[in-house]
Amino acid sequence: MESSRKLFIGGNWKSNLTVAQVNAHVNEVVNTLQIDPAKLEVLVAPTTLHLAQVKSILRPDIHLSAQSCSPENMGAFTGEVAASQLKDFGVNWVLIGHSERRSFFGETDAVVAKKVTLALAHGLNIVLCIGENLSEREGGQTFDVVARQLNAVKSAVTDWGKIVVAYEPVWAIGTGRNATPEQAQEVHVFIRRWFTENVNADVAASTRVIYGGSVTDVNARDLIGQPDVDGFLIGGASLKPAFKTIVDVSQ
Ligand code: PGA
Repeated sequence: MESSRKLFIGGNWKSNLTVAQVNAHVNEVVNTLQIDPAKLEVLVAPTTLHLAQVKSILRPDIHLSAQSCSPENMGAFTGEVAASQLKDFGVNWVLIGHSERRSFFGETDAVVAKKVTLALAHGLNIVLCIGENLSEREGGQTFDVVARQLNAVKSAVTDWGKIVVAYEPVWAIGTGRNATPEQAQEVHVFIRRWFTENVNADVAASTRVIYGGSVTDVNARDLIGQPDVDGFLIGGASLKPAFKTIVDVSQ
């Protein structure tokens, strides 16, 4: 990555872990990470149920994130947690637009934009997830999909400084088939060009664009070697001691 942008590594725990496993993982792996604060920010995103527990034991220099927030304000929306409630509770980050939300729970570009609007209105920072699925990649539509997903949130974003973009090709998530460093770099450059053309050159240069999809302790070093890969959003490997190795090799 380029030295002017601070590296960013997030662990997305998805719908995993029991209370006992959360405690063990935070104490044994997350809280023992060696982090150079001048170079790297680290985030973990447990289930909503476990936010309180993680908050009570997490090292204060590591960001705590929700995996989603409601597209609506507080009110009669059973099962949802509003962005304002996350902020009030002391959670300052949220993942928005993860492909599992988009594909399994029908989260459209419009819903993603509503969540972005509310998250920013209530002062949250966002890891905004975008990326194409396999048929879109094979159909040569990768850039079109990524641009569409960015265009969908463009008018909702009031401060790009509060957003980290995670490029996560759906075909690479949880499949063991990561994008090659060259494939990741190519799309990250495209995203940066989108920023230059649609926002401005400063935002293009300063926004962290991180890669997600089957990142492991084996492939992390090559991926982070790409000039426009500013870190990772990690699912499976973030639940294992491998997370520590990824943090180590990335700095
Ligand atoms: P994975 O998930 O690392 O298990 O592929 C990445 C993600 O969904 O953020």
